[in-house]
Amino acid sequence: MKLQEFHARELLAAAGLPVPPGRVATTPGEVADAARELLTAGARGVVVKAQVLVGGRGKAGGVKLAATPAEAAQVAEQILGMTIKGIVVRKVLVAPASDIRHEYYLGAVLDRAAQRILVMGSAEGGVEIEQVAQEKPEAIVRVHAHPHLGLFDFQARQVALALGLTGPHLADAVAIAKGLVRVMVERDADLVEVNPLAIVREIGADGSSRERLVCLDAKITLDDSALPRHPDLEARRDLDEEDPADAEARRQEINFIHLDGTIGCLVNGAGLAMTTMDLVKRAGGEPANFLDIGGGAKAETVAAAMRLILADPRVQVILVNIFGGITRGDEVARGLVEARAQQAREVPMVVRIVGTNAEAASRILHEASFQTAESLEAAAEQAVAAARRVGAAVDGGTR
Ligand code: GDP
Ligand code: MN
Repeated sequence: MKLQEFHARELLAAAGLPVPPGRVATTPGEVADAARELLTAGARGVVVKAQVLVGGRGKAGGVKLAATPAEAAQVAEQILGMTIKGIVVRKVLVAPASDIRHEYYLGAVLDRAAQRILVMGSAEGGVEIEQVAQEKPEAIVRVHAHPHLGLFDFQARQVALALGLTGPHLADAVAIAKGLVRVMVERDADLVEVNPLAIVREIGADGSSRERLVCLDAKITLDDSALPRHPDLEARRDLDEEDPADAEARRQEINFIHLDGTIGCLVNGAGLAMTTMDLVKRAGGEPANFLDIGGGAKAETVAAAMRLILADPRVQVILVNIFGGITRGDEVARGLVEARAQQAREVPMVVRIVGTNAEAASRILHEASFQTAESLEAAAEQAVAAARRVGAAVDGGTR
């Protein structure tokens, strides 16, 4: 689960990292109010930032500076409602504008191959790190944190020195790098990234100026499997940006991953679901999804899974593959009959149910005139053939 920047900033600030203050707003009026507050508190201007769960907001015009509350409302008018990488902007963060002297990249990511947290830094901040990794891999410094002891001071210094930081900035960068690793561990995150980590110039009330290292952007991705341990973070899920199918799948405790093909797959067990997809591909078809209804699924779960699959207009046929263990075949068959009676559109279905109560399942399916298959290979071939027929009919109809 990805956190919005303003939530990620809160977590970094709570860990003691230097993060500028900010307010979330959903209308130009609220943006003007937030700007007025920040300007009264001494800001020289504000930055209005689109809050969407994708990178590259700056390049897309989703990050804009404003000098006055009126101007802030104006830029908010442009940003709210705009679309960035297919996502409509519904809220913005208003923060004091920073006078940026230099932008760096600093991030912690789970390195599964090394089974450790990898800390990465680069003096080429601001731009997307993937681009730096591709074009100038030597510009990225990498160190692995210790699984139990975290990031050592000397390692953090190694990163900071590679960024060219000196004096107080060096000490600050060490604290920030260690802080990122701490946040990563404490919150069960996969990724904690600051881009840009920036040296900003601040003018004091007496007119004196000083430079400081601050986190100007924050990106955190949480490990979904660990979310039950963090109800406070789960509560920060942004429902505005969730695919409704994903939300429904989570409610029903169905493992569902949307793909690009035309053959919907309804399977119990992750391994069997993968095998089913492999066999669909071998038979010349493309799976529309990965779906595992889990063990012991009831008729209602089956009906919900069917709705999820049919919500994708590209789906032309559904392949049901159930190996009854804890899951009872007759229960699934009843779910299929129920689901077909309710389904929004007619698509062919090929069903294979073996294992617990397979005979009862078979009776129910035949009474309801479902197309069934004995083996998984046969089921996959029948499904691909049915998809071809539907595809041909659709093509013929449009020409
Ligand atoms: P991203 O493009 O989605 O990663 O959004 P960022 O929060 O990283 O902002 C993009 C860019 O906007 C940054 O790299 C900065 O160059 C610029 N930016 C962000 N905040 C400020 C600010 O307070 N002042 C100035 N001058 N530029 C900013
Ligand atoms: Mn950024």
